[in-house]
Amino acid sequence: MEKIGFIGLGIMGKPMAKNLLKAGYQLVVYDLNQAAVEEVVAAGAAPGTSPMDVASQVEIVITMLPNSPHVKEVVLGENGVLAGAKPGLIIIDMSSIAPLASKEVAAKAAEHQVEMIDAPVSGGEPKAIDGTLSIMVGGKKEIFDRCKPILSKMGKSVVHCGEIGAGNTTKLANQVIVALNIAALSEALVLGTKAGVEPEVIFEAIRGGLAGSTVMEAKAPMIFEGNFKPGFKIELHIKDLANALETGHEVGVPLPLTSQVMEIMQALKVDGKGQNDHGGIIQFYEKLAGIEVRR
Ligand code: NAD
Repeated sequence: MEKIGFIGLGIMGKPMAKNLLKAGYQLVVYDLNQAAVEEVVAAGAAPGTSPMDVASQVEIVITMLPNSPHVKEVVLGENGVLAGAKPGLIIIDMSSIAPLASKEVAAKAAEHQVEMIDAPVSGGEPKAIDGTLSIMVGGKKEIFDRCKPILSKMGKSVVHCGEIGAGNTTKLANQVIVALNIAALSEALVLGTKAGVEPEVIFEAIRGGLAGSTVMEAKAPMIFEGNFKPGFKIELHIKDLANALETGHEVGVPLPLTSQVMEIMQALKVDGKGQNDHGGIIQFYEKLAGIEVRR
Protein backbone atom coordinates (compact mmCIF):
# COMPACT_ATOMS: atom_id res chain seq x y z
CA MET A 1 0.00 0.00 0.00
CA GLU A 2 1.26 3.45 -0.89
CA LYS A 3 2.24 5.89 1.85
CA ILE A 4 0.02 8.96 1.49
CA GLY A 5 0.43 12.62 2.47
CA PHE A 6 -2.77 14.50 3.36
CA ILE A 7 -2.77 18.32 3.46
CA GLY A 8 -5.91 20.24 4.52
CA LEU A 9 -7.77 18.73 7.48
CA GLY A 10 -10.92 20.87 7.61
CA ILE A 11 -14.58 19.87 7.69
CA MET A 12 -14.00 17.50 4.74
CA GLY A 13 -10.31 16.59 4.88
CA LYS A 14 -10.37 15.35 8.47
CA PRO A 15 -12.97 12.57 8.00
CA MET A 16 -11.53 11.68 4.57
CA ALA A 17 -8.06 11.23 6.10
CA LYS A 18 -9.54 9.14 8.91
CA ASN A 19 -11.19 6.84 6.35
CA LEU A 20 -7.81 6.24 4.67
CA LEU A 21 -6.32 5.37 8.08
CA LYS A 22 -9.20 2.94 8.70
CA ALA A 23 -8.48 1.33 5.32
CA GLY A 24 -4.91 0.65 6.46
CA TYR A 25 -2.95 3.38 4.65
CA GLN A 26 -0.01 5.07 6.38
CA LEU A 27 -0.59 8.84 6.43
CA VAL A 28 1.60 11.91 6.94
CA VAL A 29 -0.63 14.95 7.53
CA TYR A 30 -0.32 18.72 7.58
CA ASP A 31 -2.62 21.69 8.22
CA LEU A 32 -2.12 25.26 9.47
CA ASN A 33 -4.62 24.39 12.21
CA GLN A 34 -2.64 22.43 14.83
CA ALA A 35 -5.76 21.12 16.61
CA ALA A 36 -6.90 19.41 13.39
CA VAL A 37 -3.46 17.83 12.94
CA GLU A 38 -3.49 16.54 16.52
CA GLU A 39 -6.90 14.95 16.05
CA VAL A 40 -5.82 13.00 12.96
CA VAL A 41 -2.48 12.08 14.58
CA ALA A 42 -4.46 10.65 17.52
CA ALA A 43 -6.27 8.48 14.96
CA GLY A 44 -2.94 7.04 13.74
CA ALA A 45 -1.33 9.52 11.28
CA ALA A 46 2.18 10.97 11.52
CA PRO A 47 2.53 14.79 11.58
CA GLY A 48 4.49 16.63 8.86
CA THR A 49 6.15 19.99 9.44
CA SER A 50 5.36 21.53 6.01
CA PRO A 51 3.97 20.46 2.61
CA MET A 52 7.61 19.97 1.50
CA ASP A 53 8.28 17.69 4.47
CA VAL A 54 5.10 15.69 3.79
CA ALA A 55 5.92 15.28 0.08
CA SER A 56 9.46 14.08 0.81
CA GLN A 57 8.09 11.08 2.78
CA VAL A 58 5.31 9.76 0.50
CA GLU A 59 4.37 8.53 -2.98
CA ILE A 60 0.99 10.26 -3.15
CA VAL A 61 -0.08 13.67 -1.79
CA ILE A 62 -3.77 14.48 -1.35
CA THR A 63 -4.76 18.14 -0.90
CA MET A 64 -8.17 19.27 0.43
CA LEU A 65 -7.91 23.05 0.67
CA PRO A 66 -10.38 25.94 0.28
CA ASN A 67 -9.57 27.41 -3.17
CA SER A 68 -7.09 27.93 -6.02
CA PRO A 69 -4.68 30.30 -4.17
CA HIS A 70 -4.33 27.83 -1.27
CA VAL A 71 -3.57 24.95 -3.65
CA LYS A 72 -1.02 27.09 -5.54
CA GLU A 73 0.67 28.08 -2.28
CA VAL A 74 0.76 24.54 -0.88
CA VAL A 75 1.99 22.93 -4.11
CA LEU A 76 4.12 25.63 -5.76
CA GLY A 77 5.16 27.80 -2.80
CA GLU A 78 8.37 27.91 -0.80
CA ASN A 79 8.34 24.73 1.37
CA GLY A 80 5.60 23.48 -0.96
CA VAL A 81 4.92 19.97 -2.25
CA LEU A 82 7.07 20.35 -5.36
CA ALA A 83 10.05 21.48 -3.26
CA GLY A 84 9.99 18.10 -1.49
CA ALA A 85 8.67 15.82 -4.25
CA LYS A 86 10.63 12.93 -5.74
CA PRO A 87 10.03 12.34 -9.48
CA GLY A 88 7.01 10.06 -9.90
CA LEU A 89 5.03 11.57 -7.03
CA ILE A 90 1.28 11.90 -7.71
CA ILE A 91 -0.75 14.84 -6.42
CA ILE A 92 -4.49 14.22 -6.01
CA ASP A 93 -6.05 17.65 -5.50
CA MET A 94 -9.52 17.06 -4.04
CA SER A 95 -10.25 20.76 -3.36
CA SER A 96 -12.92 22.50 -5.46
CA ILE A 97 -10.91 25.07 -7.44
CA ALA A 98 -11.01 26.82 -10.83
CA PRO A 99 -10.40 24.33 -13.69
CA LEU A 100 -7.82 26.73 -15.15
CA ALA A 101 -5.87 26.69 -11.87
CA SER A 102 -5.80 22.86 -11.95
CA LYS A 103 -4.24 23.04 -15.42
CA GLU A 104 -1.66 25.64 -14.30
CA VAL A 105 -0.59 23.69 -11.21
CA ALA A 106 -0.44 20.38 -13.15
CA ALA A 107 1.78 21.99 -15.81
CA LYS A 108 4.22 23.23 -13.13
CA ALA A 109 4.17 19.80 -11.47
CA ALA A 110 5.02 18.13 -14.80
CA GLU A 111 8.25 20.19 -14.90
CA HIS A 112 9.28 18.23 -11.75
CA GLN A 113 8.14 14.84 -13.21
CA VAL A 114 5.20 15.00 -10.79
CA GLU A 115 1.76 13.89 -12.00
CA MET A 116 -1.48 15.54 -10.89
CA ILE A 117 -5.19 14.76 -11.11
CA ASP A 118 -8.05 17.00 -9.96
CA ALA A 119 -10.62 15.06 -7.95
CA PRO A 120 -13.18 17.35 -6.27
CA VAL A 121 -16.02 15.80 -4.32
CA SER A 122 -19.72 16.20 -3.71
CA GLY A 123 -21.76 14.96 -0.76
CA GLY A 124 -20.70 17.19 2.13
CA GLU A 125 -19.54 16.32 5.63
CA PRO A 126 -21.96 13.39 6.27
CA LYS A 127 -20.78 11.54 3.17
CA ALA A 128 -17.14 12.41 3.89
CA ILE A 129 -17.63 10.70 7.27
CA ASP A 130 -19.39 7.66 5.73
CA GLY A 131 -16.84 7.38 2.90
CA THR A 132 -19.63 7.66 0.32
CA LEU A 133 -18.66 10.86 -1.51
CA SER A 134 -19.15 11.34 -5.26
CA ILE A 135 -15.71 12.00 -6.74
CA MET A 136 -15.26 13.54 -10.20
CA VAL A 137 -11.79 13.23 -11.67
CA GLY A 138 -9.76 14.96 -14.37
CA GLY A 139 -6.35 13.81 -15.58
CA LYS A 140 -4.55 11.04 -17.43
CA LYS A 141 -6.50 7.77 -17.49
CA GLU A 142 -3.52 5.70 -16.30
CA ILE A 143 -3.02 7.97 -13.27
CA PHE A 144 -6.77 7.81 -12.57
CA ASP A 145 -6.60 3.99 -12.68
CA ARG A 146 -3.68 3.98 -10.21
CA CYS A 147 -5.46 6.31 -7.79
CA LYS A 148 -8.94 4.76 -8.01
CA PRO A 149 -8.43 2.21 -5.19
CA ILE A 150 -7.46 5.08 -2.85
CA LEU A 151 -10.33 7.31 -3.96
CA SER A 152 -12.74 4.39 -3.49
CA LYS A 153 -11.95 4.41 0.23
CA MET A 154 -13.40 7.94 0.44
CA GLY A 155 -16.20 7.79 -2.14
CA LYS A 156 -18.73 5.36 -3.50
CA SER A 157 -18.84 6.93 -6.97
CA VAL A 158 -15.49 7.68 -8.65
CA VAL A 159 -15.88 8.88 -12.25
CA HIS A 160 -13.17 9.82 -14.75
CA CYS A 161 -14.53 12.96 -16.47
CA GLY A 162 -11.67 13.76 -18.90
CA GLU A 163 -8.32 15.57 -18.96
CA ILE A 164 -6.90 17.67 -16.10
CA GLY A 165 -9.49 20.30 -15.03
CA ALA A 166 -12.47 18.15 -16.09
CA GLY A 167 -13.15 17.12 -12.49
CA ASN A 168 -13.44 20.75 -11.42
CA THR A 169 -15.53 21.66 -14.48
CA THR A 170 -17.97 18.89 -13.50
CA LYS A 171 -17.93 20.12 -9.89
CA LEU A 172 -18.85 23.66 -11.05
CA ALA A 173 -21.93 22.22 -12.79
CA ASN A 174 -22.77 20.44 -9.53
CA GLN A 175 -22.40 23.66 -7.51
CA VAL A 176 -24.61 25.68 -9.87
CA ILE A 177 -27.36 23.06 -9.55
CA VAL A 178 -27.09 22.89 -5.75
CA ALA A 179 -27.09 26.69 -5.27
CA LEU A 180 -30.10 27.21 -7.54
CA ASN A 181 -31.93 24.31 -5.87
CA ILE A 182 -31.45 25.77 -2.39
CA ALA A 183 -32.62 29.18 -3.60
CA ALA A 184 -35.73 27.64 -5.23
CA LEU A 185 -36.50 25.62 -2.10
CA SER A 186 -36.12 28.77 0.04
CA GLU A 187 -38.29 30.96 -2.20
CA ALA A 188 -41.03 28.30 -2.28
CA LEU A 189 -41.02 27.54 1.46
CA VAL A 190 -41.26 31.23 2.37
CA LEU A 191 -44.15 31.64 -0.09
CA GLY A 192 -46.06 28.61 1.21
CA THR A 193 -45.49 29.45 4.86
CA LYS A 194 -46.50 33.11 4.65
CA ALA A 195 -49.57 32.11 2.60
CA GLY A 196 -50.67 29.99 5.55
CA VAL A 197 -49.53 26.34 5.21
CA GLU A 198 -47.27 24.69 7.83
CA PRO A 199 -43.77 24.29 6.30
CA GLU A 200 -43.46 20.66 7.41
CA VAL A 201 -46.80 19.89 5.73
CA ILE A 202 -45.53 21.41 2.48
CA PHE A 203 -42.40 19.23 2.76
CA GLU A 204 -44.36 16.02 3.46
CA ALA A 205 -46.81 16.72 0.64
CA ILE A 206 -44.27 17.42 -2.12
CA ARG A 207 -41.07 15.55 -1.24
CA GLY A 208 -42.12 12.42 -3.18
CA GLY A 209 -43.13 14.33 -6.33
CA LEU A 210 -41.15 15.99 -9.09
CA ALA A 211 -40.11 18.88 -6.81
CA GLY A 212 -38.48 16.49 -4.35
CA SER A 213 -34.67 16.43 -4.38
CA THR A 214 -31.56 15.47 -2.44
CA VAL A 215 -31.22 19.18 -1.60
CA MET A 216 -34.77 19.25 -0.19
CA GLU A 217 -34.18 16.11 1.90
CA ALA A 218 -30.93 17.49 3.34
CA LYS A 219 -31.80 21.15 3.83
CA ALA A 220 -35.54 21.38 4.65
CA PRO A 221 -35.17 19.64 8.06
CA MET A 222 -32.21 21.92 8.92
CA ILE A 223 -34.24 25.00 7.94
CA PHE A 224 -37.20 23.94 10.11
CA GLU A 225 -34.82 23.75 13.10
CA GLY A 226 -33.07 27.03 12.24
CA ASN A 227 -29.85 24.99 12.15
CA PHE A 228 -27.36 26.76 9.90
CA LYS A 229 -24.19 25.27 11.35
CA PRO A 230 -21.87 24.37 8.41
CA GLY A 231 -21.78 21.81 6.57
CA PHE A 232 -20.89 23.78 3.54
CA LYS A 233 -20.24 27.45 4.24
CA ILE A 234 -21.91 30.20 2.18
CA GLU A 235 -18.43 31.74 1.71
CA LEU A 236 -17.17 28.53 0.07
CA HIS A 237 -20.22 28.43 -2.19
CA ILE A 238 -19.54 32.06 -3.17
CA LYS A 239 -16.04 30.89 -4.19
CA ASP A 240 -17.55 28.12 -6.35
CA LEU A 241 -20.04 30.45 -8.05
CA ALA A 242 -17.24 32.97 -8.70
CA ASN A 243 -15.28 30.16 -10.38
CA ALA A 244 -18.41 29.13 -12.34
CA LEU A 245 -19.08 32.70 -13.54
CA GLU A 246 -15.43 33.19 -14.51
CA THR A 247 -15.34 29.89 -16.39
CA GLY A 248 -18.70 30.64 -18.06
CA HIS A 249 -17.41 34.00 -19.26
CA GLU A 250 -14.18 32.40 -20.51
CA VAL A 251 -15.93 29.74 -22.59
CA GLY A 252 -18.89 31.92 -23.66
CA VAL A 253 -21.78 30.72 -21.47
CA PRO A 254 -23.95 33.40 -19.80
CA LEU A 255 -25.20 32.20 -16.36
CA PRO A 256 -28.17 34.48 -15.52
CA LEU A 257 -29.61 32.42 -12.63
CA THR A 258 -26.20 31.73 -11.10
CA SER A 259 -25.44 35.46 -11.01
CA GLN A 260 -28.73 36.15 -9.15
CA VAL A 261 -28.01 33.53 -6.48
CA MET A 262 -24.45 34.87 -6.24
CA GLU A 263 -25.84 38.30 -5.28
CA ILE A 264 -28.19 36.70 -2.71
CA MET A 265 -25.15 35.00 -1.15
CA GLN A 266 -23.20 38.29 -1.24
CA ALA A 267 -26.05 39.97 0.67
CA LEU A 268 -25.94 37.21 3.31
CA LYS A 269 -22.17 37.62 3.62
CA VAL A 270 -22.57 41.38 4.20
CA ASP A 271 -25.19 40.46 6.81
CA GLY A 272 -22.54 38.45 8.74
CA LYS A 273 -23.79 35.03 7.61
CA GLY A 274 -20.87 33.95 5.40
CA GLN A 275 -19.91 31.19 7.84
CA ASN A 276 -23.47 29.77 7.91
CA ASP A 277 -24.34 26.57 6.05
CA HIS A 278 -25.58 27.28 2.52
CA GLY A 279 -29.02 26.12 3.73
CA GLY A 280 -28.97 29.57 5.40
CA ILE A 281 -29.80 31.12 2.00
CA ILE A 282 -33.42 31.00 3.20
CA GLN A 283 -32.62 33.81 5.68
CA PHE A 284 -32.39 36.23 2.74
CA TYR A 285 -35.96 35.39 1.70
CA GLU A 286 -37.16 35.35 5.31
CA LYS A 287 -35.88 38.90 5.78
CA LEU A 288 -37.57 40.10 2.58
CA ALA A 289 -40.90 38.57 3.55
CA GLY A 290 -40.73 39.23 7.30
CA ILE A 291 -41.43 35.62 8.27
CA GLU A 292 -39.42 32.62 9.51
CA VAL A 293 -39.88 29.08 8.22
CA ARG A 294 -39.58 27.10 11.48
CA ARG A 295 -41.42 24.23 13.12
P1 NAD B 1 -12.48 24.04 5.60
O1 NAD B 1 -12.34 25.52 5.58
O2 NAD B 1 -13.23 23.38 6.71
O3 NAD B 1 -11.01 23.34 5.56
C1 NAD B 1 -9.91 23.82 4.84
C2 NAD B 1 -8.65 23.44 5.62
O4 NAD B 1 -7.50 23.86 4.87
C3 NAD B 1 -8.55 24.13 6.98
O5 NAD B 1 -8.31 23.18 7.99
C4 NAD B 1 -7.37 25.09 6.81
O6 NAD B 1 -6.63 25.29 8.00
C5 NAD B 1 -6.54 24.37 5.77
N1 NAD B 1 -5.62 25.24 5.06
C6 NAD B 1 -5.89 26.41 4.40
N2 NAD B 1 -4.77 26.92 3.86
C7 NAD B 1 -3.78 26.05 4.16
C8 NAD B 1 -2.38 26.02 3.89
N3 NAD B 1 -1.79 27.01 3.19
N4 NAD B 1 -1.65 25.00 4.36
C9 NAD B 1 -2.26 24.00 5.07
N5 NAD B 1 -3.56 23.97 5.37
C10 NAD B 1 -4.31 24.99 4.92
O7 NAD B 1 -13.08 23.63 4.18
P2 NAD B 1 -13.87 22.28 3.77
O8 NAD B 1 -15.32 22.48 4.01
O9 NAD B 1 -13.16 21.09 4.33
O10 NAD B 1 -13.65 22.33 2.17
C11 NAD B 1 -12.43 21.98 1.53
C12 NAD B 1 -12.70 21.94 0.02
O11 NAD B 1 -13.71 20.96 -0.25
C13 NAD B 1 -13.20 23.26 -0.56
O12 NAD B 1 -12.68 23.46 -1.83
C14 NAD B 1 -14.72 23.04 -0.62
O13 NAD B 1 -15.33 23.85 -1.61
C15 NAD B 1 -14.79 21.56 -0.95
N6 NAD B 1 -16.03 20.88 -0.55
C16 NAD B 1 -16.59 21.10 0.69
C17 NAD B 1 -17.78 20.45 1.02
C18 NAD B 1 -18.46 20.67 2.36
O14 NAD B 1 -19.64 20.29 2.50
N7 NAD B 1 -17.81 21.27 3.36
C19 NAD B 1 -18.38 19.58 0.12
C20 NAD B 1 -17.77 19.35 -1.10
C21 NAD B 1 -16.59 20.00 -1.42
